[in-house]
Amino acid sequence: MEKKMEKSTGGKCVVCSGEIVEVIVDEWDDLNERFQEVSKGFYCKKCGLKYAFVPKGIEEKEKCVVCGKETQYFRNTPIDKREHYVEGVGQVCEECAIE
Ligand SMILES: [Zn+2]
Ligand SMILES: [Zn+2]
Repeated sequence: MEKKMEKSTGGKCVVCSGEIVEVIVDEWDDLNERFQEVSKGFYCKKCGLKYAFVPKGIEEKEKCVVCGKETQYFRNTPIDKREHYVEGVGQVCEECAIE
């Protein structure tokens, strides 16, 4: 028997602002002879809209890789528009950049 689960993603539906969950189904894997969790995609819990990806991070701010504090940049801010972005490392806040 298949078991269906809904995993919280923290994302919000852009239409109704309902919660977006990842639907996980336990499927029997003949090869490994055990149940395996298979993702069936992301759905809005409220309106049922299907998402190819979770539209989160749009308003989420980038955190400083050194101290973990929020920086003034959003995750979708292009890197060339940012200050104190260290390539290969990530975003560093103003305070940590001085040191
Ligand atoms: Zn929705
Ligand atoms: Zn910092």
